Amino acid sequence: MKLNRNYFNLQESYLFSTIAHKVEDYQKKNPEQKIIRMGIGDVTRPLCPKVVEAMQQAALEMGQESTFRGYGPEQGYAFLREDIRGYYANRGVALQEDEIFISDGAKSDLGNILDLFSADNSVLIPNPVYPVYVDTNVMAGRRISYLFANRENQFLPMPDLSQPADIIYLCSPNNPTGAVYNKEQLAEWVRYARKQHALILFDAAYEAFVQDPLPHSIFEIEGAKQCAIEFCSLSKTAGFTGTRCGYTVVPNDLVFENAGLNKLWLRRQTTKFNGVPYVVQKAASAVFTEEGQQQVRQNIAYYQQNAAVISSTLQELGIWFIGGRNSPYIWMQCPKGLGSWQFFDILLEKCGVVGTPGSGFGSAGEGYFRLTAFGSHDDTKEAMTRFSHIIVNL
Ligand code: PLP
Repeated sequence: MKLNRNYFNLQESYLFSTIAHKVEDYQKKNPEQKIIRMGIGDVTRPLCPKVVEAMQQAALEMGQESTFRGYGPEQGYAFLREDIRGYYANRGVALQEDEIFISDGAKSDLGNILDLFSADNSVLIPNPVYPVYVDTNVMAGRRISYLFANRENQFLPMPDLSQPADIIYLCSPNNPTGAVYNKEQLAEWVRYARKQHALILFDAAYEAFVQDPLPHSIFEIEGAKQCAIEFCSLSKTAGFTGTRCGYTVVPNDLVFENAGLNKLWLRRQTTKFNGVPYVVQKAASAVFTEEGQQQVRQNIAYYQQNAAVISSTLQELGIWFIGGRNSPYIWMQCPKGLGSWQFFDILLEKCGVVGTPGSGFGSAGEGYFRLTAFGSHDDTKEAMTRFSHIIVNL
């Protein structure tokens, strides 16, 4: 028996465990201090009433012989796929029901999709980045090249024909930077991918945070159905991080080496996946009702208010940042040329506020820091008051 040696090439991720240790040490030394966590990428608002009602109703159905359900379709129930089709149609994107696959979240699909592609492909991944894209490709032994995001390109790197790739990852709104591509920029990526016969894996997990006229989906761009797969999730849209439901769009027009990726993905899913629980799919379906949309929008607005508080504080302090307006993430430059971890330590030690060092998301994140809007209003205001005090006296 031989192991997949590629696993030994994975970089140990010390980011969140180091943060946890530092926070624990600090709390021991300062038992009176209330620590405020501005680094959390998880939501805090509860599921909305319409979703809870749908879950309860579905649970009752599962307990009655006449309405009980066993295995469902691996790719998701028609009712939910139809809801999602309608959601896209409202934005002018026409999808067929069989192009939509329901999953237990974007993370699984982002990893599992790689089953379809040869390990010989070269992969282009932004830096800084959501670490799952890198690690899943390292596990498969693929060649990775990086697409550097920086202040000059507003953390929105554009294609470079001298940097060819077979698979390209784009995440917009971006985690960790909060940056969002506009339509022209995405159109350039689509042109580049088609010219190179490359595939774009587009992560739209934060699309619900877009409030300006910017794309929510890569399929708003002409020609994208010939070169892109889109991953989306109800985790941040509707507080499903613990409930688990997402969806992936694999267009029927997506053909490589004369094979349709939609059929391959269907084959993969029907072989290795047995579907998302009926109760969860019913809950997800409630998100797309008129009342459900109103209720989830209220929670998103709640986070957006936090993002506005963080953004206005940074503006007043003259700190360079991006994100916040169309994203729950604010990506700031560390003041006084401090490194990411140096700034982390100062913020924790001097005022008990915890953020995420940008260097934890890749080398290009060094010197930057991520703040998130997923806390409570009171904590966010309190954290930003303490933050201002520290920066002014730095
Ligand atoms: N994609 C990005 C960019 C994320 O930040 C996250 C979670 O934080 C995910 C995907 C995972 O989403 P899910 O909870 O649907 O697995």
